[in-house]
Amino acid sequence: MELDDINTITVLGAGNMGHGIAEVAALAGYEVHLRDINEEFVENGYDQIEWSLDKLAEKEQITEADAEDALGRVETYVDLAESAADADVVIEAVPEKMDIKKDVYTELEAAAPDRAVFATNTSSLSVTELAEVTERPERFCGMHFFNPPVRMQLVEVISGADTSAETMDLITDLAESMDKTPVRVMKDSPGFVANRILVPLMNEAAWIVESGDATIAEVDSTTKYEMGLPMGSFELADQVGIDVGYHVLEYMHEVLGDAYEPCPLLERKVEAENLGKKTGEGFYDYENGEGAQIPTDEVRDDIARRLTAVMANEVAGLLGNEVATVSDVDRALMLGGGFPDGPAKMADDAGLETLVETLDDLHEETGEERYEAVDYLRELAESGENFHGSADDGDDSDPYDFENVAVEVREGVGHLELDRPHRLNTISDDLIADLSAAVDALAADEAVRAILLTGAGDRAFSAGADIQSAAGSAGDPHLGTELSRRGQRAFGKLEDCDKPVVAAIDGYCLGGGMELTMCADLRVASKRSEFGQPEHDLGLLPGWGGSVRLQRIVGTGRAKEIIFTADRYDPETMADYGFVNEVYENDEFDEKAFEYAKRFAQGPPIAQKYTKRAMHNGWEDTDAGLEVEAQSFGLLFATDDLMEGMTAFMGDRDPEFEGE
Ligand code: NAD
Repeated sequence: MELDDINTITVLGAGNMGHGIAEVAALAGYEVHLRDINEEFVENGYDQIEWSLDKLAEKEQITEADAEDALGRVETYVDLAESAADADVVIEAVPEKMDIKKDVYTELEAAAPDRAVFATNTSSLSVTELAEVTERPERFCGMHFFNPPVRMQLVEVISGADTSAETMDLITDLAESMDKTPVRVMKDSPGFVANRILVPLMNEAAWIVESGDATIAEVDSTTKYEMGLPMGSFELADQVGIDVGYHVLEYMHEVLGDAYEPCPLLERKVEAENLGKKTGEGFYDYENGEGAQIPTDEVRDDIARRLTAVMANEVAGLLGNEVATVSDVDRALMLGGGFPDGPAKMADDAGLETLVETLDDLHEETGEERYEAVDYLRELAESGENFHGSADDGDDSDPYDFENVAVEVREGVGHLELDRPHRLNTISDDLIADLSAAVDALAADEAVRAILLTGAGDRAFSAGADIQSAAGSAGDPHLGTELSRRGQRAFGKLEDCDKPVVAAIDGYCLGGGMELTMCADLRVASKRSEFGQPEHDLGLLPGWGGSVRLQRIVGTGRAKEIIFTADRYDPETMADYGFVNEVYENDEFDEKAFEYAKRFAQGPPIAQKYTKRAMHNGWEDTDAGLEVEAQSFGLLFATDDLMEGMTAFMGDRDPEFEGE
């Protein structure tokens, strides 16, 4: 079966996960048959879908018509055979009990068409064992959504022992068609990827406290404020439910051995039914106390090292057994666990050799199996490698040697200058490539704490895209879209960079040049500067992020004014619009701009990094906006208006657009 052949998806179980999965499938355009064991449960699931769709429409993430259409695609069932009679794919989300699931699959096998592919949303049970109940183990896999499915991007697609490559491809494509990011789990191993890292991490946090080596406050302070995880370990356990993690751990213990023995601290909480937020009390008291109040100043390096070492051991277990690739492991935890970097990257940064030493010391001290470094980790550490390749690639060439940009690092400021003054620093393809590599190098350079972006000479920051090089692509929509994407990617790196970025604008700041400054965190300008988005004069649109980013900075009304009028603006007006933070005299501009950037180079890097991330994550769906922009940019490349605009520009006359 191909993705296009999937029309009807049956979702079994209308609980927490089932209703969310049904909603996601309906939003993606599939006919959804939602089934639960009685009318009340299934109607409750349906009502929750309706409520959630209304919320999405209220927040303008979808239109009301989309919400209505999606709901119209969901039908409810109590009879399993009826719900599955026409299914192309069945996603099962019934309770996490092997016997219940096996009963469901036995009944399902008889009811579903032969072509149907079965996918289980189990968090921990063996996909292989479940598949054995059916007569189609090759058309059976795991499809593990995260809670809540409508918001969480990650879907683990899990291969059972007999799952065919076609089934893995199909369900991976299906997850993508639902706008999710699938991660392939190539072996049916307990906890799959995300929980295989998260659950032992929770266990180790508990062991640290149980053994008296640190307090809960110290562990949570360290996980949150030193390692940068979105929550403290105990805070997370309370949030998810201590019993949930505990049961996964029990299963890992059973299958993988004593290294996964659950810490008695967790067991005591489960026995006392202090399961976390849902029962009002877990490690923190949510009913009579203040919940998780985590101190910012009880961070301890030794705890961070210990947790990272245990995490690295799990990563090595996954990679050594070829359960997933290193990039998928990192991706899974960034999307499923909100990690700032993937666990493999965090381990690499800490140094695998140090982490192995940490494990060896703990092993010697405690004799516990969980501190035995797995072979793959030890091998990498001994050969000086890390998870992402060589720890030292021996490349000592100058990382800042570029043709089209100049880079200088001084007093914590990485000064990146567009260096084509003879062409008003216009942005060519080669400049984009150099810019991209330079930003990567600056982001990785520990001596750099802030980035200052300028244009060489005193006439222009950048007068925009190099029209001559762009003209080479006119007439070809595909090339236009690609040109847009290349710029978007390179500029986006500045926005994604964890360090503060200041754009210092002296002279023309037009078109693509102005779009580049939109990726900076702050902008300062000299009095002689001139701003504008002249694309409409050319029959184009701002194609390097401008149609998405400008409105965030100045508001939609002003952004449309700037883009639709294609007028030029002075720096004072742009300061009034909120685009420019400071305006300086021309003759003292360079010095003032440098001082301004230096101030941020002296700021708190971790707080800056997470402030940026928090603020940027608050924006809604940039990628969708950028995709529309790139496609439209390409489309415009096929228009006569663009030809007319460019010819008029080069001939220094007014264009006559025909709308063709
Ligand atoms: P839930 O208890 O909220 O929902 C399960 C639903 O299945 C209930 O409505 C129940 O009535 C129904 N059900 C029971 N027996 C059934 C049967 N024979 N046929 C059809 N429906 C039946 O549980 P949940 O949290 O939605 O979890 C469902 C599955 O998703 C489990 O395998 C769980 O491990 C997995 N999962 C849960 C989470 C989470 O955070 N809750 C995250 C990922 C995966």
